[in-house]
Amino acid sequence: MANALITGITGQDGAYLSQLLLEKGYTVHGLLRRSASADVIGERLRWIGVLDRVTLHDGDLMDLSSIIRIIDRVQPVEVYNLAAQSFVHASWQQPILTGNVTGMGAVNVLEAVRIVAPRARFYQASSSEMFGKIQEAKQSERTPFYPRSPYAAAKLYAHWMTVNYRESFGMHASSGILFNHESPLRGIEFVTRKITDGVARIKLGLASELTLGNLDATRDWGHARDYVQAMWAMLQQDTPDDYVIATGRTVSIRDFCAIAFGYAGLDWQAHVRTSAAFMRPAEVEVLLGDAGKARAKLGWAATTTLEELAAEMVEADLVRHRAARG
Ligand code: NDP
Ligand code: GDP
Repeated sequence: MANALITGITGQDGAYLSQLLLEKGYTVHGLLRRSASADVIGERLRWIGVLDRVTLHDGDLMDLSSIIRIIDRVQPVEVYNLAAQSFVHASWQQPILTGNVTGMGAVNVLEAVRIVAPRARFYQASSSEMFGKIQEAKQSERTPFYPRSPYAAAKLYAHWMTVNYRESFGMHASSGILFNHESPLRGIEFVTRKITDGVARIKLGLASELTLGNLDATRDWGHARDYVQAMWAMLQQDTPDDYVIATGRTVSIRDFCAIAFGYAGLDWQAHVRTSAAFMRPAEVEVLLGDAGKARAKLGWAATTTLEELAAEMVEADLVRHRAARG
């Protein structure tokens, strides 16, 4: 059986990608950073039902020697670099950490692959945030980048280093420029999950209000389960390349509120407040992706509508809060 290594295996995408690769017959290995809260590590992998089917290796993206040792031991045929400080808002508070982990961390993985497993295929988790202040109404692989946060600038560095390693060393290194993707496993600080969690709490009488930031921004949101399929498909191509992965529909935070609250039979306007605390120093107002290349070359297309995604997320948060309430 072929070995695959996932950095960021404990995150949202790590869980869905582990599930997909196990279904496809891979032996799945993951990089696990040490935490004092060891009891909650692996919660997403447990939720999705794969925690006891993956092998976790202690290491950190910032510790090149640990990555070299793990890749040398595992000898993966595919390496998925999903680890990052991934929350845009936090990147203004921790710009140096974000640069180190999200930017330089990718180079650590590229270097480790180059040194001990140069034939392994490499995937970099690039982001639509790199388009930032958009230069075209619909963003494709040809759209110029304009990062608007320390997170986006760090991702752009990692993105170009992936291209550079491909061109310099002939590595099979691909980059997925993924637009926002969500699921019941999305971090609670991201706006969709914050909203579906709020809907569940309000529905169950555990809260009456939800405080958000800019309701006018729009995002092209898909389901993480669909998006990890695209990651895998990129590494099955004969030649490495970069691909935009998106749904082609953009919806405002306000309209996502209407969808999620509406699903639970609630009027969002009766419950949602706004606060400057959740506004950003520089905002990405609109993101809308053109995944035509992925459709043509990978045969990939999103299969989950935003309404289906919101419903799944609200249902999962209702289950969580009912279970916690006992
Ligand atoms: P998450 O925030 O859910 O997961 C991030 C992962 O990175 C976690 O496993 C985290 O570990 C790990 N990590 C963070 N710092 C380190 C470190 N120093 N060493 C080792 N591991 C570390 O992100 P997602 O799953 O949502 O996203 C996956 C990737 O895709 C990220 O790189 C993200 O930036 C990128 N991306 C995501 C998009 C989205 O909409 N979800 C869109 C475009 C790109 P721990 O559990 O210990 O915190
Ligand atoms: P991002 O696209 O990676 O930054 O994903 P987020 O889910 O964090 O944010 C998406 C958009 O929602 C951004 O334009 C935010 O400004 C906006 N937003 C509005 N209110 C909130 C909030 O309370 N939390 C977060 N995280 N984002 C919010």
